[in-house]
Amino acid sequence: MERVYNFSAGPAVLPVEVLEEAAAEMLNYRGTGMSVMEMSHRSKAYQAIIDEAEADLRELMNIPENYKVLFLQGGAHQQFAMVPMNLMKNKVADYIITGQWAKKAWKEAQLYGKANAIASSEDATFSYIPDCSDLPISEDADYVYICENNTIYGTKFHTLPNTKGKLLVSDVSSCFLSEPVEVTKYGIIYGGVQKNIGPAGVVIAIVREDLITDDVLPGTPTMLKYKTHADAGSMYNTPPAYGIYICGKVFKWLKKQGGLTAMKERNETKAAILYDFLDQSKLFKGTVRKEDRSLMNVPFVTGSKELDAKFVKEAEAAGFVNLKGHRSVGGMRASIYNAMPIEGVKALVAFMAKFEAENV
Ligand SMILES: *Cc1c(COP(=O)(O)O)cnc(C)c1O
Repeated sequence: MERVYNFSAGPAVLPVEVLEEAAAEMLNYRGTGMSVMEMSHRSKAYQAIIDEAEADLRELMNIPENYKVLFLQGGAHQQFAMVPMNLMKNKVADYIITGQWAKKAWKEAQLYGKANAIASSEDATFSYIPDCSDLPISEDADYVYICENNTIYGTKFHTLPNTKGKLLVSDVSSCFLSEPVEVTKYGIIYGGVQKNIGPAGVVIAIVREDLITDDVLPGTPTMLKYKTHADAGSMYNTPPAYGIYICGKVFKWLKKQGGLTAMKERNETKAAILYDFLDQSKLFKGTVRKEDRSLMNVPFVTGSKELDAKFVKEAEAAGFVNLKGHRSVGGMRASIYNAMPIEGVKALVAFMAKFEAENV
């Protein structure tokens, strides 16, 4: 069986062990005589799957009792609306604009209230994280919003912003489970799972219990209230059942790897291999301010569009796929999520060194 090294930003690489296990269970899930895809979400077998997935996620992230774990749909984009609909009591929120996803969330929030952009790094193509130690947080802000890891630009908040006591809401789509987090620092942590956890179609929202109320903006659809899903154990309607099942397998895989502390170490090792190469290369350059570099998404350029295109093409032929950068940054981007093995990063760097020798 031929597998490539897949550096896609999302949907992205999954652990081979997880895919193999899912394949083995495809026709007959543990004696039920059917696939999880064909199973009622109200069955005992499925209830056990979702319960175990939640329990394993709670253990991995050390999620306190007073936070709910919700398995939702609609992608991260739906959270751009759900967050203001559920939290904007004063109709004021502050957004830190560190890239396209934060900007889209900010624009969406403007449909529901006053959404202020209190900091931005757009002046330098979002290649850094602004200083967030003393921002003009609005006195009546219902929350402060960040996109914690900027998938397109390759930056990451290594220090959370000083919200001056206001609630912090974070989109962690592309750094979910890549390192330990202190859940209590957030009101809501959410992310689409298709970057670092599982198949597209599932969004996980970890929401502090006191934020889950019926006091939402008038006209909020039933399906867009956190309370609807919290009250029903994420099964108000048919959940993305198969996707949650795969997420559950990834949680077990992460536990077997040693949990999030071990993942952080491994991710730092992997990222260092690539960044160290970029820092000494005469051809390739990283595009992000060093102290704000992401462990998950690594954009880089040669400085020449022709060479960039040549590199992407030759890399693909050699089995390193999806390295083309986002159209707003250009160049290349290697997404090296949890499931990218260290051998994949080493092999990529060796290929880059060879390309450099042939093209400088
Ligand atoms: C991919 C991504 C999104 C968009 O996710 P959808 O599930 O397609 O809505 C939002 N935020 C971040 C940080 C992402 O990486």
